[in-house]
Amino acid sequence: MTQPSDKALVPFVSVDHMMQLIHRIGIGPMLQGLAEYIEADFRRWELFDKTPRIASHSAEGVIELMPTSDGEVYGFKYVNGHPKNTREGLQTVTAFGLLADVGNGYPVLLSEMTILTALRTAATSAMVAKHLAPKGADTMAMIGNGAQSEFQSLAMKAICGLTTVRLYDTDPAATRKCAANLAGHGLTVVSCTTPEEAIEGAQILTTCTADKQYATILTDNMVGSGVHINAIGGDCPGKTELAPAILHRSDIFVEFPPQTRIEGEIQQLDADHPVTELWQVMTGAAPGRVSDRQITLFDSVGFAIEDFSALRYVRDQLADTGLYHALDLLADPDDPRDLFGMLQRAAP
Ligand code: NAD
Repeated sequence: MTQPSDKALVPFVSVDHMMQLIHRIGIGPMLQGLAEYIEADFRRWELFDKTPRIASHSAEGVIELMPTSDGEVYGFKYVNGHPKNTREGLQTVTAFGLLADVGNGYPVLLSEMTILTALRTAATSAMVAKHLAPKGADTMAMIGNGAQSEFQSLAMKAICGLTTVRLYDTDPAATRKCAANLAGHGLTVVSCTTPEEAIEGAQILTTCTADKQYATILTDNMVGSGVHINAIGGDCPGKTELAPAILHRSDIFVEFPPQTRIEGEIQQLDADHPVTELWQVMTGAAPGRVSDRQITLFDSVGFAIEDFSALRYVRDQLADTGLYHALDLLADPDDPRDLFGMLQRAAP
């Protein structure tokens, strides 16, 4: 039986290995590390190959492919979004992703990305809040206490110095779960029974709900001057979280405008409504927060470069950990033209 050569074996990070890697690094340091990789890639934004993600919509949800390349490494993520899944005991969002060598096209990493997406989404939110939230922001309202919520809270603590999180979800069981999971992580956790109670005293308002409709998680009168809104859950055509009036009062910051115009909160606005690209804030080409009274809004939809950065981070941490399987994914005969001969020699 022919053994695959080392160059054809692809490191595969399973869910179990990803969890071990996170525990080995520590979730706070890992969120900080991811934010550094994402910010580094945002700073070299212009050299990436960029396209809005390729979405296949159905009545129940969406399946998306998110590709990008920096010219040396290519990456993509497969990800779904099915808000009804939790009622059936399934995740709303699951994902896996791949990095490949642009030089020969061979994959160099395959990884679970359900947990990694939660980490990269949270790291991106906190990296953006570091630039846009009011100085000294220490309290966040976390509206929507599902799978992403603990990651969002811990990233804001690790990267922005958050001390208090105020939780609200239409399902009290989700709030109880989130509060229990956050116990012992160094945050003051306040469980609230209305969204109005959750936003009391919060300088950062995070919406992270899942519903396939134009929802109004925050109404105009709930948003005071000077806050930073981290809007995570509106990320598909016909799926938004904020009242349009809030958008008209905010300075809006986005990842990749051609994708956010289709998927983000700004799908509710005219196609030429001004927005600022976040990479320009990171490089200093555009201003971030300029006044204490300004409402800043991160209209997050999740962009391929964040997944690329996250996979790059994981690849760089793997050496010497043994936290991967060497996967026999690529047929790689000794004589590259003798694929059939390799098959024939494998006959039982
Ligand atoms: P989830 O289904 O685990 O949690 C969603 C929570 O929202 C549930 O607990 C639900 O009860 C609650 N909810 C629904 N309607 C609500 C309302 N009106 N008020 C308060 N709470 C409400 O989903 P998740 O994995 O945590 O993802 C949350 C959202 O974030 C999804 O819409 C998902 O598509 C999106 N998401 C965005 C990004 C990004 O990069 N922007 C990345 C990952 C997930």
